[in-house]
Amino acid sequence: MMVVMTTRATEAQIAAVRAKFTASGVDAQVIEGELATAVGAVGDPNGIRKSDLESMPGVERIVPFSTPYKLASNELTHHEPSSFEVRDRLIGGNETFCLIAGPCTVESREQALSVAKTVETAGASMLRGGAFKPRTSPFAFQGLGEEGLEILVEAREQTGLPIVTELLDAQHADLVAQHADVIQIGTRNMQNYVLLELAGQLGKPVLLKRGFSSTLEELLMAADYILKEGNERVILCERGIRSFETATRFTLDLGAVPWLKQRSHLPVIVDPSHATGDASPVEPLACAAAAAGADGAMVEVHYEPKAALCDAPQAQNAKDFPAFVSRVAVHAALAGRRIAQP
Ligand code: PEP
Ligand code: MN
Repeated sequence: MMVVMTTRATEAQIAAVRAKFTASGVDAQVIEGELATAVGAVGDPNGIRKSDLESMPGVERIVPFSTPYKLASNELTHHEPSSFEVRDRLIGGNETFCLIAGPCTVESREQALSVAKTVETAGASMLRGGAFKPRTSPFAFQGLGEEGLEILVEAREQTGLPIVTELLDAQHADLVAQHADVIQIGTRNMQNYVLLELAGQLGKPVLLKRGFSSTLEELLMAADYILKEGNERVILCERGIRSFETATRFTLDLGAVPWLKQRSHLPVIVDPSHATGDASPVEPLACAAAAAGADGAMVEVHYEPKAALCDAPQAQNAKDFPAFVSRVAVHAALAGRRIAQP
């Protein structure tokens, strides 16, 4: 169970709740969130009555979890969705659709700035672009590293778009946090629990991609690793899973959208580019994600897709992007949402 303390709870009141658990042999963890502090019981607090805790000073309410994931559960938020702003762009809640677009990888200043301008003019909410890339082959282009981050910052200065970029390894944490507006954890690192904790400590929103062989429960428990560090700004991303089907690169699990929305308060976005590995189904799937109630979509865009150094087959042509945005916006409107703008 989780004891949510009031915003005015004192250190002594928090310690008293913790001591109550410890005295009955149950380990308890204090989780200091950005909005509230909670005390979570690790183990089964059999000897403790809910009413005893409710009457303790500083206690707001008790949340008895029925799920293996805790902080990501919407039992904590009375089933209300969370929302937050990234440089004036709202993500989460029920009214906006956050469209994150940009190249798979920052390849050059010219490429990144050109794509950034196109997607901004067309109405994207944020710019994506990898600087440190998780490549299947060690001989493939690994990204421009710090130079790539600097180019992204220049793109933000020119367009005003917040930037989303991947944190691949702990050694780059400070560097990525200094530049990024949203820190992405890639599919291959969803179960890198030490990296998740570190991402939770960097003070920036985290976009957590579902591991391509991970269940949705595992995704929510991975989110708990970030949330327990006090970082409440986590975005979940469905990006396709491995299945027997090989027609598309991965299999987009659109069922993840309603399943997660029903059980978690966190914003849920969909990445049809990595799911399909092919540009042609990206638009219908982004539209489907919007109509299914997703909080956003992330898509890869290039001004010369065939020449892309990474994920070329799935890159949308930048010249087609304005029409893509219009059609996605129509589907988002079906779910009562508009594209997130400043
Ligand atoms: C990416 O978005 O750049 C990426 C590498 O995605 P994923 O981790 O989902 O493969
Ligand atoms: Mn990619």
